[in-house]
Amino acid sequence: MVFELSSYKRGEDMADCIFCKIVNGDFNTKFIYEDEDAVVFNDINPKANIHMLVVPRIHVESLNECEDTELLGRLLNIVKKVTKQENIPSYRTVINTGRDAGQEVFHLHIHILSGDIKL
Ligand code: 5GP
Ligand code: ZN
Repeated sequence: MVFELSSYKRGEDMADCIFCKIVNGDFNTKFIYEDEDAVVFNDINPKANIHMLVVPRIHVESLNECEDTELLGRLLNIVKKVTKQENIPSYRTVINTGRDAGQEVFHLHIHILSGDIKL
């Protein structure tokens, strides 16, 4: 696991980060899709019939801290790939940025929701 030390501010954040642990395989989470940039897994508390999370392997707190625009493009491409793989033609993507917007996990992620969306 390679961490980009420049992309987060406080060293303890990453050690405590639940998504870093998931990316690292600590909980044996089933990955629906994975590549060198990100992993995709089901949300533990789904807000729709299908609710997946696209999580980059590097720890970046939120969209506001992400300087890598090429990575952002590749993450959106992963949305396309995984929805195609899972035969989901119609879906909503959500990126909560900041506590007031409802961000709970401060490791950048894209929600993919489809079917009876309650978000
Ligand atoms: P946020 O509110 O930060 O945009 O979204 C965080 C999401 O992560 C929530 O929908 C929450 O249900 C999900 N989540 C939090 N902890 C875990 C976990 O340990 N495993 C999985 N699979 N999802 C989680
Ligand atoms: Zn993290």
